[in-house]
Amino acid sequence: MSTLLGAIEAGGTKLVCAAALESNEIVAETRIATTTPAATLDAAQQFLESVTAKLGAFSAIGIATFGPVDLQSSSSTFGRLLATPKPGWAGTDLVAPFARRFGCPVAIDTDVNAAALAEALHGAGRDCDTVVYVTVGTGIGGGIAVDGQTLKGTLHPEMGHVRVVRHERDVAFAGVCPFHGDCVEGLASGPAIIARYGASLDRLPPDHEALPIVGYYLGQLATNILLMLSPGRVVFGGGVMNSESLLREIRAAAARLLNGYAGLGIDAASLERVIVSPGLGDRSGIVGAIALARAASRSASS
Ligand code: ZN
Repeated sequence: MSTLLGAIEAGGTKLVCAAALESNEIVAETRIATTTPAATLDAAQQFLESVTAKLGAFSAIGIATFGPVDLQSSSSTFGRLLATPKPGWAGTDLVAPFARRFGCPVAIDTDVNAAALAEALHGAGRDCDTVVYVTVGTGIGGGIAVDGQTLKGTLHPEMGHVRVVRHERDVAFAGVCPFHGDCVEGLASGPAIIARYGASLDRLPPDHEALPIVGYYLGQLATNILLMLSPGRVVFGGGVMNSESLLREIRAAAARLLNGYAGLGIDAASLERVIVSPGLGDRSGIVGAIALARAASRSASS
Protein backbone atom coordinates (compact mmCIF):
# COMPACT_ATOMS: atom_id res chain seq x y z
CA MET A 1 0.00 0.00 0.00
CA SER A 2 1.39 3.40 -0.94
CA THR A 3 1.86 6.09 1.68
CA LEU A 4 -0.86 8.76 1.81
CA LEU A 5 -0.12 11.95 3.74
CA GLY A 6 -2.69 14.48 4.96
CA ALA A 7 -1.73 18.13 5.35
CA ILE A 8 -3.34 21.27 6.71
CA GLU A 9 -2.04 24.82 6.59
CA ALA A 10 -4.16 26.80 9.06
CA GLY A 11 -4.14 30.53 8.48
CA GLY A 12 -6.10 33.45 9.88
CA THR A 13 -8.37 33.71 6.84
CA LYS A 14 -8.27 30.21 5.31
CA LEU A 15 -7.26 26.60 5.78
CA VAL A 16 -5.50 24.83 2.94
CA CYS A 17 -6.10 21.07 3.13
CA ALA A 18 -4.23 18.62 0.94
CA ALA A 19 -3.35 14.98 0.48
CA ALA A 20 -0.03 13.91 -0.99
CA LEU A 21 1.84 10.78 -1.91
CA GLU A 22 5.27 9.87 -0.49
CA SER A 23 6.72 11.35 -3.71
CA ASN A 24 5.32 14.77 -2.66
CA GLU A 25 2.77 14.69 -5.48
CA ILE A 26 -0.42 16.41 -4.28
CA VAL A 27 -3.46 14.29 -5.19
CA ALA A 28 -6.23 16.39 -3.60
CA GLU A 29 -6.48 19.93 -2.27
CA THR A 30 -9.11 22.41 -1.11
CA ARG A 31 -9.41 25.75 0.65
CA ILE A 32 -11.77 26.39 3.54
CA ALA A 33 -12.58 29.85 4.94
CA THR A 34 -11.52 30.21 8.58
CA THR A 35 -14.74 30.86 10.52
CA THR A 36 -15.55 29.28 13.89
CA PRO A 37 -13.20 26.52 15.08
CA ALA A 38 -15.96 23.87 15.05
CA ALA A 39 -17.21 24.64 11.54
CA THR A 40 -13.74 25.10 10.05
CA LEU A 41 -12.20 21.95 11.53
CA ASP A 42 -15.28 19.91 10.67
CA ALA A 43 -15.07 21.02 7.04
CA ALA A 44 -11.38 20.08 6.99
CA GLN A 45 -12.15 16.63 8.43
CA GLN A 46 -14.94 16.07 5.91
CA PHE A 47 -12.60 16.91 3.04
CA LEU A 48 -9.87 14.61 4.34
CA GLU A 49 -12.45 11.85 4.87
CA SER A 50 -13.58 12.20 1.26
CA VAL A 51 -9.95 11.62 0.27
CA THR A 52 -9.57 8.51 2.42
CA ALA A 53 -12.82 7.12 0.96
CA LYS A 54 -11.15 7.11 -2.46
CA LEU A 55 -7.49 6.52 -1.67
CA GLY A 56 -7.32 4.69 1.66
CA ALA A 57 -6.13 5.67 5.12
CA PHE A 58 -3.59 8.36 5.91
CA SER A 59 -0.19 7.26 7.22
CA ALA A 60 0.06 10.58 9.06
CA ILE A 61 -1.30 14.13 9.04
CA GLY A 62 0.82 17.30 9.31
CA ILE A 63 -0.59 20.60 10.57
CA ALA A 64 1.16 23.93 9.99
CA THR A 65 -0.71 26.57 11.98
CA PHE A 66 -0.75 30.22 12.91
CA GLY A 67 0.25 30.70 16.51
CA PRO A 68 0.90 30.93 19.26
CA VAL A 69 0.43 27.20 19.75
CA ASP A 70 1.59 24.66 22.34
CA LEU A 71 4.16 22.40 20.62
CA GLN A 72 5.47 20.63 23.75
CA SER A 73 4.43 17.00 23.33
CA SER A 74 4.57 16.44 27.12
CA SER A 75 2.22 19.34 27.83
CA SER A 76 -1.43 18.85 28.87
CA THR A 77 -2.37 21.50 26.29
CA PHE A 78 -0.21 20.09 23.45
CA GLY A 79 -1.62 20.97 20.05
CA ARG A 80 -3.85 23.74 21.36
CA LEU A 81 -3.75 27.34 20.21
CA LEU A 82 -2.73 29.69 23.01
CA ALA A 83 -3.91 33.28 23.51
CA THR A 84 -4.50 34.10 19.86
CA PRO A 85 -6.33 37.36 19.10
CA LYS A 86 -8.42 35.44 16.53
CA PRO A 87 -11.90 35.42 18.13
CA GLY A 88 -13.01 32.01 19.45
CA TRP A 89 -9.79 30.17 18.55
CA ALA A 90 -7.81 30.47 21.81
CA GLY A 91 -7.62 27.02 23.42
CA THR A 92 -8.75 25.19 20.27
CA ASP A 93 -7.25 21.69 20.05
CA LEU A 94 -5.96 21.22 16.50
CA VAL A 95 -4.42 17.77 16.98
CA ALA A 96 -6.78 15.51 18.97
CA PRO A 97 -9.83 15.81 16.66
CA PHE A 98 -7.76 14.65 13.67
CA ALA A 99 -5.96 11.92 15.63
CA ARG A 100 -9.32 10.57 16.84
CA ARG A 101 -11.06 10.72 13.47
CA PHE A 102 -8.23 9.33 11.33
CA GLY A 103 -6.39 7.07 13.81
CA CYS A 104 -2.94 8.10 12.58
CA PRO A 105 -0.02 10.16 13.92
CA VAL A 106 -0.65 13.92 13.74
CA ALA A 107 2.33 16.28 13.70
CA ILE A 108 1.98 19.99 14.37
CA ASP A 109 4.27 22.99 14.02
CA THR A 110 4.00 26.69 13.35
CA ASP A 111 3.24 27.76 9.78
CA VAL A 112 6.59 29.53 9.56
CA ASN A 113 8.59 26.60 10.96
CA ALA A 114 6.86 24.38 8.40
CA ALA A 115 7.62 26.90 5.65
CA ALA A 116 11.29 27.02 6.70
CA LEU A 117 11.41 23.22 6.53
CA ALA A 118 9.78 23.20 3.09
CA GLU A 119 12.19 25.82 1.74
CA ALA A 120 15.12 23.85 3.19
CA LEU A 121 13.96 20.55 1.66
CA HIS A 122 12.48 21.66 -1.65
CA GLY A 123 12.88 25.42 -2.14
CA ALA A 124 15.33 28.30 -1.91
CA GLY A 125 17.43 26.66 0.83
CA ARG A 126 17.99 23.24 -0.69
CA ASP A 127 21.78 23.56 -0.47
CA CYS A 128 21.77 24.95 3.10
CA ASP A 129 21.88 23.31 6.54
CA THR A 130 20.11 26.21 8.26
CA VAL A 131 17.20 28.12 6.74
CA VAL A 132 15.07 30.85 8.28
CA TYR A 133 11.65 31.72 6.84
CA VAL A 134 10.09 35.08 7.70
CA THR A 135 6.52 35.93 6.77
CA VAL A 136 5.54 39.58 6.49
CA GLY A 137 1.77 39.96 6.32
CA THR A 138 -1.00 40.64 8.83
CA GLY A 139 1.62 39.70 11.38
CA ILE A 140 5.34 39.02 11.19
CA GLY A 141 6.74 35.65 12.24
CA GLY A 142 9.78 33.51 11.61
CA GLY A 143 10.62 29.83 11.59
CA ILE A 144 13.91 27.98 11.61
CA ALA A 145 14.92 24.67 10.01
CA VAL A 146 18.24 23.09 10.95
CA ASP A 147 19.43 19.83 9.37
CA GLY A 148 15.89 18.85 8.35
CA GLN A 149 14.35 19.60 11.77
CA THR A 150 12.51 22.69 12.94
CA LEU A 151 13.60 24.64 16.00
CA LYS A 152 10.76 24.82 18.51
CA GLY A 153 12.37 25.90 21.77
CA THR A 154 10.09 26.24 24.79
CA LEU A 155 7.25 28.08 23.04
CA HIS A 156 8.49 28.56 19.48
CA PRO A 157 10.48 31.39 17.93
CA GLU A 158 8.56 34.71 17.92
CA MET A 159 11.06 36.80 16.00
CA GLY A 160 8.39 39.18 14.70
CA HIS A 161 8.40 40.75 18.15
CA VAL A 162 12.08 41.64 18.47
CA ARG A 163 12.64 45.32 19.19
CA VAL A 164 14.02 47.49 16.40
CA VAL A 165 15.54 50.96 16.26
CA ARG A 166 13.27 53.68 14.92
CA HIS A 167 13.84 55.18 11.51
CA GLU A 168 14.58 58.90 11.90
CA ARG A 169 11.58 59.78 9.69
CA ASP A 170 9.20 57.52 11.63
CA VAL A 171 9.23 58.79 15.19
CA ALA A 172 5.56 59.71 15.77
CA PHE A 173 3.84 56.41 14.93
CA ALA A 174 2.89 54.39 18.03
CA GLY A 175 3.16 50.94 16.36
CA VAL A 176 0.31 48.43 16.11
CA CYS A 177 1.64 45.73 18.47
CA PRO A 178 -0.30 46.09 21.74
CA PHE A 179 2.56 44.44 23.65
CA HIS A 180 5.62 46.25 22.32
CA GLY A 181 4.88 49.13 19.95
CA ASP A 182 8.43 49.26 18.58
CA CYS A 183 8.74 45.61 17.53
CA VAL A 184 9.08 44.55 13.88
CA GLU A 185 5.44 43.47 13.71
CA GLY A 186 4.35 46.71 15.35
CA LEU A 187 6.18 48.83 12.76
CA ALA A 188 6.46 46.81 9.53
CA SER A 189 3.45 44.45 9.31
CA GLY A 190 0.67 45.02 6.77
CA PRO A 191 -1.62 46.67 9.35
CA ALA A 192 1.25 48.92 10.54
CA ILE A 193 1.85 50.10 6.96
CA ILE A 194 -1.84 50.81 6.36
CA ALA A 195 -2.17 52.58 9.74
CA ARG A 196 0.58 55.04 8.74
CA TYR A 197 0.19 55.47 5.01
CA GLY A 198 -3.46 54.53 4.31
CA ALA A 199 -2.54 51.88 1.73
CA SER A 200 -0.50 48.72 1.31
CA LEU A 201 3.08 49.07 0.01
CA ASP A 202 2.28 47.80 -3.47
CA ARG A 203 -0.36 50.56 -3.86
CA LEU A 204 1.96 53.40 -2.85
CA PRO A 205 4.15 55.26 -5.41
CA PRO A 206 7.55 53.57 -5.92
CA ASP A 207 9.40 56.58 -4.47
CA HIS A 208 7.22 56.71 -1.31
CA GLU A 209 9.18 56.93 1.93
CA ALA A 210 7.34 53.87 3.29
CA LEU A 211 9.60 51.57 1.28
CA PRO A 212 12.96 52.51 2.84
CA ILE A 213 11.36 52.80 6.28
CA VAL A 214 9.74 49.36 6.21
CA GLY A 215 12.88 47.97 4.55
CA TYR A 216 14.96 49.41 7.39
CA TYR A 217 12.95 47.55 10.03
CA LEU A 218 12.96 44.26 8.12
CA GLY A 219 16.66 44.79 7.35
CA GLN A 220 17.30 45.02 11.10
CA LEU A 221 15.43 41.75 11.57
CA ALA A 222 17.46 40.11 8.78
CA THR A 223 20.68 41.41 10.35
CA ASN A 224 19.75 40.03 13.77
CA ILE A 225 18.86 36.66 12.21
CA LEU A 226 22.16 36.49 10.30
CA LEU A 227 24.20 37.35 13.39
CA MET A 228 22.26 35.09 15.76
CA LEU A 229 21.76 31.95 13.65
CA SER A 230 24.15 32.27 10.71
CA PRO A 231 21.69 30.65 8.27
CA GLY A 232 22.51 29.93 4.65
CA ARG A 233 19.25 31.60 3.61
CA VAL A 234 16.79 34.05 5.10
CA VAL A 235 13.63 33.63 3.03
CA PHE A 236 11.12 36.49 3.10
CA GLY A 237 7.53 35.57 2.15
CA GLY A 238 4.01 36.82 2.92
CA GLY A 239 1.67 39.36 1.36
CA VAL A 240 3.70 42.50 2.13
CA MET A 241 6.66 41.02 0.21
CA ASN A 242 4.59 41.25 -3.00
CA SER A 243 6.12 44.71 -3.29
CA GLU A 244 9.06 43.83 -5.54
CA SER A 245 11.41 46.58 -4.36
CA LEU A 246 11.08 45.66 -0.70
CA LEU A 247 13.55 42.76 -0.83
CA ARG A 248 16.15 45.11 -2.33
CA GLU A 249 15.54 47.61 0.50
CA ILE A 250 15.94 44.84 3.08
CA ARG A 251 19.27 43.76 1.54
CA ALA A 252 20.49 47.37 1.37
CA ALA A 253 19.57 48.03 5.01
CA ALA A 254 21.15 44.75 6.17
CA ALA A 255 24.35 45.54 4.22
CA ARG A 256 24.59 48.97 5.90
CA LEU A 257 24.00 47.49 9.36
CA LEU A 258 26.35 44.51 8.97
CA ASN A 259 28.96 46.86 7.52
CA GLY A 260 31.14 44.04 6.24
CA TYR A 261 31.64 42.45 9.66
CA ALA A 262 33.22 38.99 9.32
CA GLY A 263 32.66 39.21 5.57
CA LEU A 264 28.89 39.58 6.01
CA GLY A 265 26.99 42.13 3.96
CA ILE A 266 30.00 43.75 2.30
CA ASP A 267 27.43 45.19 -0.09
CA ALA A 268 23.78 44.58 -0.96
CA ALA A 269 24.77 42.39 -3.93
CA SER A 270 26.63 40.00 -1.62
CA LEU A 271 23.32 39.41 0.19
CA GLU A 272 21.40 38.51 -2.99
CA ARG A 273 22.03 34.80 -2.44
CA VAL A 274 21.32 35.00 1.30
CA ILE A 275 18.20 37.20 1.68
CA VAL A 276 15.81 35.75 -0.88
CA SER A 277 12.20 35.18 -1.97
CA PRO A 278 10.59 31.77 -1.36
CA GLY A 279 11.57 29.13 -3.90
CA LEU A 280 8.09 27.62 -3.47
CA GLY A 281 6.17 30.89 -3.92
CA ASP A 282 3.12 30.87 -1.65
CA ARG A 283 3.25 27.05 -1.32
CA SER A 284 5.87 26.86 1.44
CA GLY A 285 3.29 26.36 4.21
CA ILE A 286 1.34 23.49 2.70
CA VAL A 287 4.50 21.78 1.38
CA GLY A 288 5.87 22.14 4.92
CA ALA A 289 2.74 20.52 6.38
CA ILE A 290 3.27 17.58 4.01
CA ALA A 291 6.91 17.36 5.19
CA LEU A 292 5.69 17.24 8.81
CA ALA A 293 3.32 14.40 7.93
CA ARG A 294 6.07 12.51 6.09
CA ALA A 295 8.42 12.75 9.08
CA ALA A 296 5.66 11.57 11.45
CA SER A 297 4.83 8.67 9.15
CA ARG A 298 8.46 7.57 8.93
CA SER A 299 9.08 7.79 12.67
CA ALA A 300 5.87 5.81 13.35
CA SER A 301 6.96 3.00 11.01
CA SER A 302 10.61 2.87 12.12
ZN1 ZN B 1 5.29 42.95 19.42
